[in-house]
Amino acid sequence: ASQAAASKAADLLGEIATMLESKKDELGELDAVAGDGDHGIGMENGSRAAAKAAQALVADGAGLSTTLAAAGDAWSDRAGGTSGALWGAILTSFGAALGNEDAPTENKLVEAVVAAREAVQRLGGAEVGDKTLVDALVPLTEALTTTEGDLKTKAEAALKAGEEGASSTTDLVAKVGRARPLGQKSVGTPDPGAISLVEVARVLLGAL
Ligand code: ADP
Ligand code: MG
Ligand code: MG
Repeated sequence: ASQAAASKAADLLGEIATMLESKKDELGELDAVAGDGDHGIGMENGSRAAAKAAQALVADGAGLSTTLAAAGDAWSDRAGGTSGALWGAILTSFGAALGNEDAPTENKLVEAVVAAREAVQRLGGAEVGDKTLVDALVPLTEALTTTEGDLKTKAEAALKAGEEGASSTTDLVAKVGRARPLGQKSVGTPDPGAISLVEVARVLLGAL
């Protein structure tokens, strides 16, 4: 059964919320350059609500998929904003790919990351080069699925690819989202959503 994995997921969401709390100001400042400056507070509120919701479901004996669906709903409700909706979809699709029944295998975890990447692009419609978190998520997922070796090797390659993807947004003009009207102003500053995605991935991949 997936209850143990659900419990682990709830713990990891708590770690993510603590990490995002510590990066709140930095993420807000990045978002203020060409956006509305709320990315830090949104990520903190969303992840904290998700961790709480997950804990409540785990206490009820829920499986992984049910737990992450509730966490995803809580994240998008409490974060508000575009990234909140996208993170809600990431959690929900990741959990749905893993299901409630069996403990997740390594292959299933990789498949779940692919499912999350697909959900983000389906919902947000952004492509690589639009200066969004997609610029980190796509190369991260690509490296995870194509790197040979054990899961740790794959995870290290994925994190590195995600970091490079997030850095690559510095030179880009924002083409979608709230930063688009001030797109030229965003040149020289990395995309906040790409930076925060890599920081969340660092916690998750480091826990493998
Ligand atoms: P809002 O823009 O609604 O204030 P946030 O500030 O929390 O929400 O999130 C902004 C981030 O959301 C951007 O830095 C970008 O990474 C991401 N984003 C915005 N629009 C999209 C989209 N269509 N697809 C993927 N990511 C997006
Ligand atoms: Mg914002
Ligand atoms: Mg906003």
